[in-house]
Amino acid sequence: MQKHSADLVIIGCGAAGLSCALTALEAGSSVINIERSPKDIMGGNTRWTEANLLLNGGPDQEGFELHDTFYMSYAMMNKGFHVDPDIEAETVNDYENWSPLAKTTPFVDPELLGTFAEAVPPTLEWLTQQGVQINPKETETIPFCLPTLPYVKIYGGGLSIIENLVPKIEAQGGEFLFETTAHKLIEENGTVVGVRCSGKDNETIEVYGKVVLASGGFEGNPQMLAQFGGQETRYMRPVAKGGHYNKGEGLRMAMDVNACAAGDWSDCHQQVVDPRTGLQEAMVNVWPFGIMVNQKGERFMDEAPNNYFEWQEDVPAEITRQPGGIGYIIYDQKLEDDTECGWKYGIRTDKPPVKADSLEELAAYMMIPVAKLKKTVEDYNNACVNADKVNRMLGGFRDGAMDFEKIDIVNDQLFDGAGTEGVFPPKENYAAPIDTPPYYCYPAISSICFTHGGLRTNGKAQVINSSGEVIPGLYAAGETVGMHYGVYTVGTSVLRGLCFGRIAAQHASA
Ligand SMILES: Cc1cc2nc3c(=O)[nH]c(=O)nc-3n(C[C@H](O)[C@H](O)[C@H](O)COP(=O)(O)OP(=O)(O)OC[C@H]3O[C@@H](n4cnc5c(N)ncnc54)[C@H](O)[C@@H]3O)c2cc1C
Repeated sequence: MQKHSADLVIIGCGAAGLSCALTALEAGSSVINIERSPKDIMGGNTRWTEANLLLNGGPDQEGFELHDTFYMSYAMMNKGFHVDPDIEAETVNDYENWSPLAKTTPFVDPELLGTFAEAVPPTLEWLTQQGVQINPKETETIPFCLPTLPYVKIYGGGLSIIENLVPKIEAQGGEFLFETTAHKLIEENGTVVGVRCSGKDNETIEVYGKVVLASGGFEGNPQMLAQFGGQETRYMRPVAKGGHYNKGEGLRMAMDVNACAAGDWSDCHQQVVDPRTGLQEAMVNVWPFGIMVNQKGERFMDEAPNNYFEWQEDVPAEITRQPGGIGYIIYDQKLEDDTECGWKYGIRTDKPPVKADSLEELAAYMMIPVAKLKKTVEDYNNACVNADKVNRMLGGFRDGAMDFEKIDIVNDQLFDGAGTEGVFPPKENYAAPIDTPPYYCYPAISSICFTHGGLRTNGKAQVINSSGEVIPGLYAAGETVGMHYGVYTVGTSVLRGLCFGRIAAQHASA
């Protein structure tokens, strides 16, 4: 058995774990990062993300702040489900005066949110000092077939966080234990004093110190997914290879010492991807301009509803409820010929669509009952009574011509109102008939970006127990913290890891 010790033992090497390690070293603490993966593929989800950041950006802007929609999104769509108003009312007081109920009720607490928002500008300033480039001029939208909010990008994506921070951590004496999996906290009199791990050949390795859980969610653990998210999760896979390393031990070992759960454990941030490729984030976000059918050849949702927010998490969730957890996005040559509206901006797969000269042939490729698919398309086509009003230029990605200041995604500017009549489910926008061969199809499944279930922490990143008390010696940051209920506020997960990783280090080193 091996034994090691340091001031801080950090589980994980993503945005949260690495920002924690370097900040702690700068504060004079010694650190050991424990990482399940080999060194050359370290970094969990962080390694694979483009790292779009929800910031107010612009070439002339000094410093960075969270985008104005951050508060709206968290406060209105994301804060929790039917929270008891009496408990919520308590949160106008200082956190110290909250009752144990307020400290443990599942909702995004204002203490955590305020701390997060305040931490963003100094954290990004620190990150750029480490050599990571954040380029407001690279402001773009998330790849979708339509414009979404503007996001500021980290040059080189999350990989650049790893490539810039790891050498600095090593240079300052930080240690890494690769191919080592943490699985059990070591306690003494209610204080966490270390963690038990397994290394190569299942060797036991004990590492002593204050513990920071920065080990992601449980997107790489099918058993936990089924346990908390239900049967439909069996059809889902991580959106990138890094997610497979996040198997939830960090959460499980914290729950074993009575940590309080937070975030929606039954839910996750999902993306619609092409199952035929192993490419990360192989999105096929183009269904609003065609139709989506299931394996039985039936349409099962409004492909272009008027509420844009339904386009994000609802669609992949709906796909998982279909037979085999798969949908097929079908369109025709008319759409293929539309090179003006930018609809292909939402395609990230490296596989071409399946192409066929007839619907019969397309159905045969996809093993969809031929007659059923033909009937579904016929019914849909007959319902496209407003086809002459279809205006894809409204919804398509208006590359170059976009004025982010003027786009108002909440007020229907993206929608042409050219919906179907007399078919169920309806399609409220962009309802053009599918009648011009050849026909095209992208298969589509749901993939997990990260799970929403995590631990309750306070503004110092300390883990709270189920009675609202701090668990001494235990911190959490990044995906391991539960902050989401409902729709994820896109462009905040890398920031969350960076900010709370640093906050954990600052408090644990103090
Ligand atoms: C393809 C993709 C695109 C994304 N796009 C965006 C985006 O544009 N903007 C955004 O903000 N977010 C985005 N995200 C989400 C974001 O990247 C992650 O949520 C964030 O980077 C997570 O950081 P983290 O440090 O909490 O976890 P991770 O980066 O996942 O790190 C967790 C680490 O813990 C290690 N680990 C896990 N369990 C153990 C264990 N028991 N023992 C030892 N080590 C363990 C893992 O190997 C890993 O190194 C995206 C994610 C993906 C995959």
